[in-house]
Amino acid sequence: MNTNDIISLDKEYIASTYGRLSLAPAYGKNATLYDAEGKEYVDFTAGIGVNSLGIAPEKWREAVCAQLQKIQHISNYYYSEPTATLAKKLVAASGAKKVVFQNSGGEANEVAIKVARKYSFDKYGAGRHKIITLVNSFHGRTVTTLSATGQDVFHKFFFPFTEGFTHVPANDIEALKKELDGTVCAIICEAIQGEGGVNVLDSEYVSAISKICLDNDILLIFDEVQTGIARTGKIFAHEHYNVNPDVFTLAKGLGGGLPIGACVLSEKCESVFNPGDHGTTFGGNPAVCAGANVVFDTVNDNAFLDSVNEKGEYIKNAVRSWELPCVKEVRGLGLMLGIEVSISHKEAVKKCLENGLMMLTAGKNVLRMLPPLTITYEEIDKGLAILKGVLSGYQN
Ligand SMILES: *Cc1c(COP(=O)(O)O)cnc(C)c1O
Repeated sequence: MNTNDIISLDKEYIASTYGRLSLAPAYGKNATLYDAEGKEYVDFTAGIGVNSLGIAPEKWREAVCAQLQKIQHISNYYYSEPTATLAKKLVAASGAKKVVFQNSGGEANEVAIKVARKYSFDKYGAGRHKIITLVNSFHGRTVTTLSATGQDVFHKFFFPFTEGFTHVPANDIEALKKELDGTVCAIICEAIQGEGGVNVLDSEYVSAISKICLDNDILLIFDEVQTGIARTGKIFAHEHYNVNPDVFTLAKGLGGGLPIGACVLSEKCESVFNPGDHGTTFGGNPAVCAGANVVFDTVNDNAFLDSVNEKGEYIKNAVRSWELPCVKEVRGLGLMLGIEVSISHKEAVKKCLENGLMMLTAGKNVLRMLPPLTITYEEIDKGLAILKGVLSGYQN
């Protein structure tokens, strides 16, 4: 099928929940994709930070296929080696104690919310269930994680939303303190707000909320669905802040392209769930976990993490050196980067695509880059040349 046929088929049969861009990638290698007509695209998106090791990486493919030739799925009523092995790695790298596997970021956050509420219920009884999240956060699309998400655009149509969430501006500790009324069981934050605009949390703020959580037996939850698994140049983004969250969630980059979510529990809440308290049919699928083990082994390496940081600095320095009038700020850590622009971010992304570069938006005015962590400098230079050409076309 050619690109136009695929687009027509999609428009006829798939419910229109996305404003899709006119590209149907057919195949690729690392950070280079091709459509059915053979047109080449440089990928600064990695499927929203999912394809950590790029398109169809060999070791990952081999591990997934080898597992598929043994067993593709077993019920969570039984045990699975790749699943347990992956959990061990996540625990060893974080100092946490237990993992709950799911299929997506939103689901992993649902688990975090359930853990926080049950932890508090078990210890303090009913009523201590309020969860504080940050303005401009994004935590998922389920009815509960939409409640958790601190953006009003997501609080429409689907009433009634789950109760018990309140949103405070990021980096404003006084605003957060005002919400501490004895009913709070958890605070959820992203180290870098991804969808909200690539906004990096201040160190002092994170230290302050960590202390508040410790002093008041409130669970500190890091939503690392986008920031986790080396995306920011550390295995987990909370390492940038020297804090130990009670709970953190992973998803996007963990599976290397297959659906997975994980909620990681520290000692404080490792025993909150008992058999029957939570479940999932697909979560922790052996083939997905076989691939995730390869992703984890590849990125959990100091030389690899250094390379992520070096590439990130290289991209930031390049964009800053252009000194373009439409570029207000370049920010982010590792390969989670944002360019705040004074122009329409959506239009700029469209123009990039027309010229062979896949880019993402974030927030109201940010161009976001989440390339595969394995992107080569050659691919980076190709992509940056296209980006420079597009942004140079704007006068302000
Ligand atoms: C993408 C994202 C989610 C939602 O993940 P899904 O897999 O789409 O459910 C939650 N939190 C953050 C920070 C995200 O970036």
